[in-house]
Amino acid sequence: MEGFDIRTLALTNLLLGLFLGVGSLIFARIHPSFRGFKALGYSYFLFSLGFILLGLRQYIPNLLSIIIANLAIVIGFSLLVVGILRFLNQERRVFEIYSFVSFSLMLFSFVYFTYFQASVNARIFVMSFIVFTYSIFVSYKILTNKDQKILTFTRFLGFSFCICAFVYLLRMYFAFNEPTLENFMNAGAIHGFSLIVMQLVTITSFFSLTVSASQQLANQLTTQATVDSLTNIYNRRAFDEFAAKGVLRAQREKTPISLILMDIDLFKEVNDSYGHQVGDRVLQEFSLRLTSSLRQYDILARYGGEEFTLLLPDTNTETAMIIAEKLRYTIAQPVFLLEGGTELRVTASFGVATNQSDNINWQHLISLTDQALYHAKESGRNCVKLHKADVHRFPNTEKIH
Ligand code: GH3
Ligand code: MG
Ligand code: MG
Repeated sequence: MEGFDIRTLALTNLLLGLFLGVGSLIFARIHPSFRGFKALGYSYFLFSLGFILLGLRQYIPNLLSIIIANLAIVIGFSLLVVGILRFLNQERRVFEIYSFVSFSLMLFSFVYFTYFQASVNARIFVMSFIVFTYSIFVSYKILTNKDQKILTFTRFLGFSFCICAFVYLLRMYFAFNEPTLENFMNAGAIHGFSLIVMQLVTITSFFSLTVSASQQLANQLTTQATVDSLTNIYNRRAFDEFAAKGVLRAQREKTPISLILMDIDLFKEVNDSYGHQVGDRVLQEFSLRLTSSLRQYDILARYGGEEFTLLLPDTNTETAMIIAEKLRYTIAQPVFLLEGGTELRVTASFGVATNQSDNINWQHLISLTDQALYHAKESGRNCVKLHKADVHRFPNTEKIH
């Protein structure tokens, strides 16, 4: 089989390495929170250096075009693996130790098989063995990485390293069994193909890591837009969306849906007496206590300031009242224990409403709970009140508080 033109391949690898190297370093600068891109950039530059020296075979001394060139490519490959492991937040110690061992092995054997017992086959075999082990190692690390956020793109990368491992395994086989090669530049197709596979892993590593990073940025934005940063529960914007959909679904399926609106009692006094920071800790502890007593489908949110909402799908008035009463108790008992030994008795008032007619909408339901909450505050706080219309329909529930 006709071989590929090694010099042309070396030139394209050089250009690719330069281009992606600059791209990775720019990315590392713009997004310093993503690890691994600097290592990736330097690895591409080392590839470039290795391939330009390789392409200049017969024009420059063997020391440069054989020993330094291959060493640069292998160190570049090892840095590529380090960059990927850093990106995936994976342990690198074992790989780094193995890399140093392999660099030494490579240097020693390349000097030997160039100056003492010249053998192109032996050099190809050693180099392919190292690239094969690196590829197997990194593809194993990538494919066993369980982080759901980056699974799709990294899986793609894992497979490209598997292809690389396979090609270099074949290359080892040919280097071992082929007749002695006189000149690397017109060796068989497998050797040219191994350079093409280098292009494959160069492109896929850059592509997978940048796409995966931008996917993570997009997820962060979604989280920031829907989660309250102080309490880590949904914010008002997210809750409004869930609640509007929930009420519509309840209408369609003719099921009850209840809403609880709660407000911490005399919270201004907490801030005034202990400071805003203690107030913040109270808000965190408050939402933690609520979260721990939720059912699977309930949706809790910080609706603003010290007001929280809880949407209870498929829940009738009686059950909603029992839940609200349970929450009231969870907050009131035991006292809040804050840093520095501060003990605080915190209570909250609760307003409850259920969708009563088929054409009730979300805004209407929240205004009903608001009225019920107002009633709870009027009645002396630390209690649960049901909206009047619901009390009329379920006279027994009013006894609960
Ligand atoms: P009431 O029982 O009638 O609800 O009395 P209250 O003092 O809780 O009500 P008011 O609306 O007068 O005060 C609410 C306070 O909540 C005022 C505001 O400074 C405080 N607050 C709102 N958001 C935050 C926050 O994120 N952190 C802290 N520490 N305080 C907050
Ligand atoms: Mg309030
Ligand atoms: Mg309040």
